[in-house]
Amino acid sequence: MVRRRPAGDPASALGVGVGDDDPVTTNVVVFGSCNMDLVAYVPVAPKRGETVTGREFRTVPGGKGANQAIAAAKAGADVRMIGAVGADEFGAEIRRVMQDSTVDVQGLRTVPGRSGTAHIVVDDAGDNSIIVVPAANGTVDALADGDEELIAGSDSLLLQLEVPQPGVAAAAAAGKRHGVRVVLTPAPAVPLPEELLRDVDLLVPNEHEAAVLTGHDDPERALAALLELVPEVVITLGARGCTYGNRDGVRHDVPAFSVPAVDTTAAGDTFVGVLTTALGEGGEVPNALREAAAGSALSVQRNGASSAMPTRDEIADFVA
Ligand code: ATP
Repeated sequence: MVRRRPAGDPASALGVGVGDDDPVTTNVVVFGSCNMDLVAYVPVAPKRGETVTGREFRTVPGGKGANQAIAAAKAGADVRMIGAVGADEFGAEIRRVMQDSTVDVQGLRTVPGRSGTAHIVVDDAGDNSIIVVPAANGTVDALADGDEELIAGSDSLLLQLEVPQPGVAAAAAAGKRHGVRVVLTPAPAVPLPEELLRDVDLLVPNEHEAAVLTGHDDPERALAALLELVPEVVITLGARGCTYGNRDGVRHDVPAFSVPAVDTTAAGDTFVGVLTTALGEGGEVPNALREAAAGSALSVQRNGASSAMPTRDEIADFVA
């Protein structure tokens, strides 16, 4: 999936350090949540008032913002993260893991108190229940000093809804002001104000989120309704793939790759990170969707969230 500058590309002709054979890189900024996932694996989840013995416990950095940032960085983008962690050991660990994945964390603030946590119980049937305590993520309710510059210097801005909506709206407005492609994953699913959607270029809900936003369970009808609100939409459909549409009437249905899935955590975040990277590098939409499907197919075959995300080379080998 390494894209190279075409011979006639003005960047090559100007000699700005990008030769004909140099790979194209894209800058992505993520404005969103960082959590520590605290995962207990149990044979059967406890009922109300019951105590059960777990088999295993893991701490895994997560949060949709951090996951999307790591997915895009592993797929080859230059990524900057804007968000907040607490002044605790989880915050330090989240920061370290992002840095290890080459995510630039100059926009990741450390605030007093706890980092965001997700308390997850996974049973043997693979079902889970989750409590999210936003903590530090709750402070990301506006742009801080330097955030506008980070957004302005990027090709794409990735947003989700795990930080307060005023913060998401302010980031989207900054993206719009600076001509940055604004990509929103509307999760967790809540009705969204039109002022926010006005600044969104590409909306990427899953089937459930699309239904909450439109009132239509049928993805075809949901897609049509969402295109009244934003110019481009991808609805992800789990193991059934995804459906894309834009306001010019272009449509693409891309099947998922048939793979043995063991853990679908963050499949959607991997999909968005890879898709944004591929589009930012100038990839055609059908190819970018296929690379995103490949990236998420690789991730569902491994346990974990960020640790399961594939590298650029793994994606390239898989689609070859
Ligand atoms: P999550 O909330 O777990 O991050 P999501 O609900 O946002 O996921 P999905 O629609 O489940 O997102 O999946 C996103 C993409 O991942 C799909 O479009 C598909 O390409 C890929 N995918 C998901 N599940 C599977 C699977 N079992 N096998 C292959 N690919 C899958």
